[in-house]
Amino acid sequence: MTNRREFLRNASILTVGGLLAGRTGHAASANFPAAAAMPAAQKKNIGLQTYSLGNELWENTPEVLKKLASYGYTHVELAGYDGKGNFGPVKMADFKKMADDAGLRITSSHINPPFRVYTPDILPKLKDYWKTVCEQHAAIGCKYVVQPSLPEILSVEEGQTVGSYFTEAGKIAKAAGLQWGYHSHNVEFAKVVPGGKEAYSGYGWHRLPEGAKYIYDVLMAATDPAYVIFELDCYWAVMGMQDPCALMREYPTRIRLLHIKDKAVLGESGMMNFEMIFKQAYAIGIKDWFVELEGIKTRPTQLEGCKACAEYLLKAPFVK
Ligand code: MG
Repeated sequence: MTNRREFLRNASILTVGGLLAGRTGHAASANFPAAAAMPAAQKKNIGLQTYSLGNELWENTPEVLKKLASYGYTHVELAGYDGKGNFGPVKMADFKKMADDAGLRITSSHINPPFRVYTPDILPKLKDYWKTVCEQHAAIGCKYVVQPSLPEILSVEEGQTVGSYFTEAGKIAKAAGLQWGYHSHNVEFAKVVPGGKEAYSGYGWHRLPEGAKYIYDVLMAATDPAYVIFELDCYWAVMGMQDPCALMREYPTRIRLLHIKDKAVLGESGMMNFEMIFKQAYAIGIKDWFVELEGIKTRPTQLEGCKACAEYLLKAPFVK
């Protein structure tokens, strides 16, 4: 259903030519065939992880959100939750209002619990933490809460403990009407052994004892699929010497979110095959994914980098 705000936003996009320029205008990051151009009314579901903006998001938040919408972004995954009800310097309820005004949905949020090592004594505190997180995120209509980095895991057993705590967090999220997820980087593709004291990455795995497993696989096995999904960062998987498509084929019901990320602006490095990635993502029914651009300055500002990423995706014939 097109409500008034959406209608006005679409009208304003057409007026300023933002979306049209993104498809047909100036030099773009990829030269897809003109046949790929879509009807102007058709919109792609393009998410942005707001970590991509760094502090630029907080300089004039309402204005930045409106610009993102004009570039073609439809929803965001937040970074910057502070454990007290704020995203960066902005109260969550205020941020929600700003996102609504810009016509952006808040789909997801990255949350780092303040615990590095998961020992039995932290479990009650961890549960309390997630209860607060989930209440606050349910109140703004968020769909996913995602932990973006790995607690210390040096053995298979530690991986199993972390996985079981993830499941506990997932139960709390589900009770609040949210889906809990874990976002991976490359460290999850180090290997651990039973009773080990070290995570092994890089070369030399042939010297490991029998039974060495990827931390990623340990976490998959140790988490309850009823409560825990995984957000695969495709770039970081490649940096961990993995094929993101093979991971999606191996875990088609567990990987439900993606980070669409390149070394810099999407499609410019040559190290990421996004056509294959999107093809596989659609094959397993992934609906929500987020552009991520880390602080690599190939554009004068992060915002301009995000604009270039959206232009790439709007032009790409393989992105629905
Ligand atoms: Mg990421």
